[in-house]
Amino acid sequence: MTTQLASLQSIFCQEKAIGQLQHAFAAGKMAHAYIFAGADGVGRAATAKAWAKMLLCRNRVHKQTPAGSFYDSCGVCPSCLLFEGEGHPDYVSIYKELLSFTREGKNRKPPLDMPIDVIREFLIEKLASKPQESEYVVYVMHEAEKLNIPGQNALLKTLEEPPSFCVIILLCSKTESLLPTIHSRCQIVRFGAVDRDHIMAALKQHGITPAAAGYWAGFSDGSLGQALTWAQLECDGKSVYDIKRDLVLRLGEFQLANTLELSEWLSQAAKAVSGALGKTAGQVSSTDINRRGQKLIIQMMQWAVYDAMRLLLGLSEGLVNNDQVDAVRSLAGRLDYDRAAKVVLQCQQKIQWIDSSVNEKLIFEGLLLNLAGLDILSTSAS
Ligand SMILES: [Zn+2]
Repeated sequence: MTTQLASLQSIFCQEKAIGQLQHAFAAGKMAHAYIFAGADGVGRAATAKAWAKMLLCRNRVHKQTPAGSFYDSCGVCPSCLLFEGEGHPDYVSIYKELLSFTREGKNRKPPLDMPIDVIREFLIEKLASKPQESEYVVYVMHEAEKLNIPGQNALLKTLEEPPSFCVIILLCSKTESLLPTIHSRCQIVRFGAVDRDHIMAALKQHGITPAAAGYWAGFSDGSLGQALTWAQLECDGKSVYDIKRDLVLRLGEFQLANTLELSEWLSQAAKAVSGALGKTAGQVSSTDINRRGQKLIIQMMQWAVYDAMRLLLGLSEGLVNNDQVDAVRSLAGRLDYDRAAKVVLQCQQKIQWIDSSVNEKLIFEGLLLNLAGLDILSTSAS
């Protein structure tokens, strides 16, 4: 079997999830609706694509492995060629930004939730169409966690009795956001975290320096896609890693009197990251992009404080900011364990709040005040 783009054997570290799919397929017990559950960037979308390509392939390659049957696409049949050219009529990728291609969606702003018009026009209305090239029609919905309740209700009937040639895959990073009735109609395939060494190796292959690769491998917590995105993003001639080094140094020297100045710096850093992301992200809503930039900066703070917390516990191995131990030590020198633990939790909470549009300056100020030991002001800012 040769390695080709979007083949199942080229997927990184998701043997268990792929094994589950293969097993059902080989036994002739494939489900017609799946939830691929797992964090962003662990390989759900890549697997969905490769799985679709295999299902659509007209000349599947089969090998027997110790774990059982393994089917993959051939890479050369007319179906595979169409797929690689992104023109396969039996593969439908559904994402919220398709709104601008719906009948009423022309001049509407890129949405934050999955619009019901997209579900209707790109899934429900197409569902009866028979495959043109292959045995199946595969629908892959991205960011299914952004389905709102009306959207999920619209989807329910479809999931209940899809035509036998349809395979519907929902990619979802927060399965708790889906109704139990959706869960019960889909088979769940869980995608675990990719281990740190594998991520580091993959980053180095992409030309990332060992120090930056080490940081992003720890930072991304098992998400190769995230690690790759951040490690490769350039913000006005700076890497995001340069920004993080600066951020950790500033946190190491942080004093209460610098709160406003550092908060402004954090806010600018988030804007720089969002600006760079915006250039690569195509049609995605600018609110989405801004939120991603803000979350990144808060996550960087969170890891720095988390590392400080570990140092306070006497654990100096395995720090995410292993490349800036002195700065982290200096931060730890001004915190006690309880405060550090509290700020780590606060960061987590603020990351969730960003999704509900809380003013980002207040968020940064609130966190810094917390870090400096002031609780009253930070609670009122939140
Ligand atoms: Zn093929």
